[in-house]
Amino acid sequence: MNTANGLNTVATDSRNTRVSPGTAMRDQEHRLFQRVQEQMDRAAEAIDLAPEVRKILAMPACEVGVNFPVRMDDGRIEMFSGYRVQHNNVLGPFKGGIRYHADVSLDEVRALAAWMTIKCALVDIPFGGAKGGVQVDPAKLSRREVERLTRRFVYALGANIGPGYDVPAPDVNTDARTMAWIVDTYAATLPPQERYRASAVVTGKPVSAGGSVGREKATGQGVVDLIEMWATDQRCEIVDLSYTVQGFGKVGSWAARVLKDKGAKLLAVQDATGAIKSDAAEGLDADALADHVKKTGGVVGFPGAQAISKETFYATRADVFIPAALENQVTAETARVLNVRLVAEGANGPTTPEGDSVLRERRIAVLPDVLCNAGGVIVSYFEWLQNRGGTVWNAAEVNRQLRAILERAYVRTKEMASEHALDWRSAAYATALRRIEQVYAERGIFP
Ligand code: GLU
Repeated sequence: MNTANGLNTVATDSRNTRVSPGTAMRDQEHRLFQRVQEQMDRAAEAIDLAPEVRKILAMPACEVGVNFPVRMDDGRIEMFSGYRVQHNNVLGPFKGGIRYHADVSLDEVRALAAWMTIKCALVDIPFGGAKGGVQVDPAKLSRREVERLTRRFVYALGANIGPGYDVPAPDVNTDARTMAWIVDTYAATLPPQERYRASAVVTGKPVSAGGSVGREKATGQGVVDLIEMWATDQRCEIVDLSYTVQGFGKVGSWAARVLKDKGAKLLAVQDATGAIKSDAAEGLDADALADHVKKTGGVVGFPGAQAISKETFYATRADVFIPAALENQVTAETARVLNVRLVAEGANGPTTPEGDSVLRERRIAVLPDVLCNAGGVIVSYFEWLQNRGGTVWNAAEVNRQLRAILERAYVRTKEMASEHALDWRSAAYATALRRIEQVYAERGIFP
């Protein structure tokens, strides 16, 4: 379907979706969406889920693909490709971040959108699942170019996003500033009398521009809350735990800063620039490291730390490993060398199916992504409620409600795991699928 602003909306059938040739090729290689299907199948079989639910969730409800021009600083025009995949909205408006990355593909965005459906259903907030992405390495663009790209992408998405319909948020390489540009651009597309409702079109905004306190650190905070719940079950104290982190961006750095306050010890960190380990007995200082990363763009060269190889990083002996970067990091090979008791997935999809099998064989516990990193979308929900209700919550209220929602999801997952003898990933999926099944059973399918 072609709409007035040059938008191409393609529903459900992936064979008809417009994709650039390069993307189609990468899709063949990645097959990330296929992996989500297999994860869902495994859980669905275990709980004898109504087959209709699997049939519906096997296809995204809507896929939007746009190619749009951006004026570069030197006057040239470059074309960019972006996507918004709306996977399912039976529980509420579509919800999920927008990422900027050179490897963004339709397949990846589809998988990420489906994970959002599972995540929101698991933690029981009234949102469906969606995800967006633009194929670009933002490090190669100036700040003004990224701003123009953002505004032009939002314009191209047009009415496909909206406060009661589809609500984006930050993801890899996007942040509060990106969200502020989105609100401003979206507001400009509305008649003046309706602009008051523009701020709820995205979450993860700067607090000064309608954001929620606690949203920036929410994903990291949630990761730590869940590690704490796991530690309590293991009868140990978080203050006694040591850990390693992969990725020191929004999720990894905040998880580490919250863990520092709780007294846990950061032994090693790896990111795109390299890996480092602590020289000091007290471990790496997460706050100082976050400042260093902000200044230099990566963890390498952090004063008082020693550079190590990626292999040494993975083999570091610790209680917890937090992958907080991109997909496909914990492969069979890396899972074999990990020397930890728990993998707490801050990133989406960090573990490959082969990596997962090795973790299961080795009896390494996993807090799966859809549970472990759900803190972000939960506080996004609080932000959306505040925007729509015209109220402002304080930090204590945000943290209290976040903890309560995560605790319920943790307990539901644990009960599902023990009732059906499932690993935690499958148990989390099964819990989410049951929730979705219940709504379809109650509402039925139109007509
Ligand atoms: N991008 C984050 C995620 O993957 C947050 C999504 C949101 O807040 O809507 O969960």
